[in-house]
Amino acid sequence: MTIEFRPSWLDEDLAMYQDTVVRFVETEMLPNDEAARHQGHVGHDLWKRAGELGVLCSDIPEAYGDGGGDFRHEAVLYDAMSRRGLTGMSPSVHSIVAHYFLNHGTEAQKQKWLPRLARGEIVGAIAMTEPGTGSDLQGVRTRAEKRGNRYVINGSKTFITNGYLAGLVLVVCKTDPTQRARGTSILIVETKDLKGYRVGRVLDKIGLKAQDTSELFFDDVEVPEENLLGGAEGQGFFQLMSDLPYERTIIGVMAAAAMEGAYQTTLNYVRDRKAFGQTIADFQNTRFRLAEIATTCQVARAFVDQCVEKLVAGQLDTATASMVKLWSSEQQGRVIDECLQLHGGYGYMNEYLVGRMYVDARIQRIYGGANEVMREVIARAM
Ligand SMILES: Cc1cc2nc3c(=O)[nH]c(=O)nc-3n(C[C@H](O)[C@H](O)[C@H](O)COP(=O)(O)OP(=O)(O)OC[C@H]3O[C@@H](n4cnc5c(N)ncnc54)[C@H](O)[C@@H]3O)c2cc1C
Repeated sequence: MTIEFRPSWLDEDLAMYQDTVVRFVETEMLPNDEAARHQGHVGHDLWKRAGELGVLCSDIPEAYGDGGGDFRHEAVLYDAMSRRGLTGMSPSVHSIVAHYFLNHGTEAQKQKWLPRLARGEIVGAIAMTEPGTGSDLQGVRTRAEKRGNRYVINGSKTFITNGYLAGLVLVVCKTDPTQRARGTSILIVETKDLKGYRVGRVLDKIGLKAQDTSELFFDDVEVPEENLLGGAEGQGFFQLMSDLPYERTIIGVMAAAAMEGAYQTTLNYVRDRKAFGQTIADFQNTRFRLAEIATTCQVARAFVDQCVEKLVAGQLDTATASMVKLWSSEQQGRVIDECLQLHGGYGYMNEYLVGRMYVDARIQRIYGGANEVMREVIARAM
């Protein structure tokens, strides 16, 4: 018997879809990853290609020109990318944006933007974080002021995934600065040739080198009043909160796949590399470490799969989603650290998958809500 990590929900149809996804990832993403890591983004062509193949927004209804699948289709893509250490393009943030439209947008907003997101014609980003506000989202300062039939936006955002390439940004703003949660709204901003909108640097991060994480600046940026997500002011914070289980499950899916990818690449490496007249795999320490890692991978797979199934059934609560984000991202950090150790000095080289996975894993404990915030959310549900 060989240890395998097959998702419990992967039926025959999804396995066929997985073949398409893996072919795309291996032939069109992987060969360009090194170049993307040097330039700090994957470029628009890859997004358009993903759209053509139907792998973007795969869980949005066909009525909006999208895939018509469910979250398992999304998970297939995140899994295929994460186990190969591909973190440049962020289809997950793109899908999160699509879900804000699906769950909270007006019918006209859905019709207007969802098909373009699915085609990869515009790249989606969500801009919450500001230089002075991260975890405490109710404290955002970016202001959207109603003037006639338009909103005028002023402020700045930082750490925005897909920010450099984004054609559509959901901007979390204050429509009433005297209020915290109730003063928060989400504005839809189409960025092309938009006066007063500026993208800052692609930020120089320790990992996720191919991902265009950027600063965004809004200087009297005007958008029509129809661009208020859902059409009513003061709903932004509640819209953000209600989509959290979706975002946190994605982080769990990525963590489980990254651990399995790290385990597999380490197993291959230690069976090949020799020291003291035997392979590294022959040392009892190596076999025991890998036995523990394989066990962690199985436990993660079981918990993540359970959350995926609950999410698809509409039964995943915020506390459980926070648990999967917390636990799997912590395990990802620990497992990949141990896998790197078993590679010796080669593990520290960017040329090796495990080295890239090591730096990329670190952010999983911070974004999507820092793990300390996850502990708070879980504790509150006790
Ligand atoms: C690569 C990358 C991509 C990102 N992508 C996006 C994006 O697409 N859109 C977006 O809006 N943001 C994005 N972010 C921002 C990310 O979500 C924030 O960095 C995160 O929410 C933490 O906010 P902060 O950095 O301001 O840290 P702070 O809020 O200043 O917190 C610092 C630390 O304080 C501790 N802490 C905070 N609150 C509590 C608490 N309640 N209890 C105990 N301890 C606490 C935690 O240890 C936390 O890590 C991204 C960040 C990075 C680095």
